[in-house]
Amino acid sequence: MGQVHFAYDTEDVLEFSVALANTDAAASTSGDDELATKEHLGGLIADHRFSGRIDGDDQELADMVGLRRDFRRIWALDRDAMVKEVNAILESGEVLPRLARHDGLDWHLHAASPDAPLATRIRLELALALVDVIRAAETERLRVCEADDCAGLLLDLSRNRSKRFCSVRCANRVNMVAYRKRQSTDADTDAYTDA
Ligand SMILES: [Zn+2]
Ligand SMILES: [Zn+2]
Repeated sequence: MGQVHFAYDTEDVLEFSVALANTDAAASTSGDDELATKEHLGGLIADHRFSGRIDGDDQELADMVGLRRDFRRIWALDRDAMVKEVNAILESGEVLPRLARHDGLDWHLHAASPDAPLATRIRLELALALVDVIRAAETERLRVCEADDCAGLLLDLSRNRSKRFCSVRCANRVNMVAYRKRQSTDADTDAYTDA
């Protein structure tokens, strides 16, 4: 029982949201925009086994970049503000939920017709995932990386809410800085004592 569990499809959508958000240059491993090309987008959606309509064109890429910006904003909201955003999406009347089974994935929730544009479907699916998170009063598990120079998003599913960084890379960097600081503080103390 080391973890909090949402339905697996809810967790999938949240994990995809983090992966999408962290393609931003302010959060990516390379420091570059990792959603700059249609090839980037193709790789990202292949990893997450999306079914249904995939256009593979410039419009779809532009819509996904817009979605990334919106997700990053919504993710950082407090619970009540998030409810407003989610209700706005639910009230738009675009959500048409159905169960689907494909690509080795068991029955899971799709938020719209498979003919709707990819970015539209993902937006609606995130709204439904956030319905679960909000109802469980777990929105604090959606956070931003604590490393100073990183704008990465993170999903903390640990039981004691102990996850602080978006990646091992950020955790190591921050720990190294803290270690160096301790060492130089120790050196100062020694110098003082000797004098
Ligand atoms: Zn699916
Ligand atoms: Zn980070």
